[in-house]
Amino acid sequence: MRALCWHGKQDIRCDTVPDPKIEDPRDAIIKVSSCAICGSDLHLFDGFMPGMESGDILGHEFMGEVMEVGSENKKLKVGDRVVVPFTICCGECDQCRRGNFSVCERSNRNKDVADKLFGHTTAGLYGYTHLTGGYAGGQAEYVRVPYADVTPVKVPNSLSDEQVLFLSDILPTGWQAAVQCDIEPTDTVAVWGCGPVGQFAIRSAVLLGAKQVIAIDNVPERLAMAKAGGAITINFDEESTVERLNDLTFGKGPEKCIDAVGMEAHASATVDSMYDRAKQAVMLESDRPHVLREMMYVCRPAGVLSVPGVYGGLIDKVPFGMFMNKGLTMRTGQTHVNRWTDDLLRRIEEGQIDPSFVITHTVGLKQGPEMYKTFRDKQDGCIKVVLKP
Ligand SMILES: [Zn+2]
Ligand SMILES: [Zn+2]
Repeated sequence: MRALCWHGKQDIRCDTVPDPKIEDPRDAIIKVSSCAICGSDLHLFDGFMPGMESGDILGHEFMGEVMEVGSENKKLKVGDRVVVPFTICCGECDQCRRGNFSVCERSNRNKDVADKLFGHTTAGLYGYTHLTGGYAGGQAEYVRVPYADVTPVKVPNSLSDEQVLFLSDILPTGWQAAVQCDIEPTDTVAVWGCGPVGQFAIRSAVLLGAKQVIAIDNVPERLAMAKAGGAITINFDEESTVERLNDLTFGKGPEKCIDAVGMEAHASATVDSMYDRAKQAVMLESDRPHVLREMMYVCRPAGVLSVPGVYGGLIDKVPFGMFMNKGLTMRTGQTHVNRWTDDLLRRIEEGQIDPSFVITHTVGLKQGPEMYKTFRDKQDGCIKVVLKP
């Protein structure tokens, strides 16, 4: 079969690789009808995330048709149409039973490494480094889905691939980011980053009834999309984010702040951003936490910071004294996808949200490698890429 494989920094190829096989009685094999490139795939593309090996199959946002099921899988049958959440989970461990699916204790095949690195393991993820299990991803014609009797979400034929594909990651990720803010009707919610997750965080905050939602980015197409979704926009190349947020909140600051940027913050004109770039270049810091610092500074005392953006390792010069003295709360995490999918599928069916608005590019798998670059460089108005294997 054909699959997009990682071969090193900025080296992704559409290779021919062996078809996946059933390895465990709970597995299923899915024929991929649609998959997507995610912002977190760009951290792999740019070589910022450790634990990749040459030939690894990428991709964790995919859906398709069930081709084969293992003998113990009672949930799926051949021909079912499913979306597969990016977090692989067993459904049986302590964390899964609490609904904390992204920290499943059993699905990471390289648990020992993760235990050492993080103190405890986190869930296995598709196409996302050997630190999270080294599972083959879904930017491919076929995928092996482990524990396929737990996570796959059956979707009705009345909805298009484009409407349901993002249940695999970015829609529940934006939703969880907003839910973790405990939004009140009097709240101002500020969202840093208007990539796909930021777009869904914005629409989720609007759906959850925030008084005003403010979107921060410097890409005109992304800001226009955020505005269409109900946000007031700030272009940080043209004005001071902190000053404008203070103006919009009568000097009090937003109550809720969402970091939908993560480790590769771009605001290069600020002193702290230049500091991060210099330290990262000499390997003294792995991530660039400019957005975290700015959120801590501008957030209203007793407010909440929600961080769906991906961080990889160690960050430097984060003002913890400011964070503690202002009584801020931070909530983070990979998405507990299955905690939200029933509710979100219902909202899509009822027309409360149609996630397909975020798609700007649809291409074949062969064009995948060039689309990684187009997406990374935000060329051609690119916000979200869907691939058709
Ligand atoms: Zn993703
Ligand atoms: Zn589990």
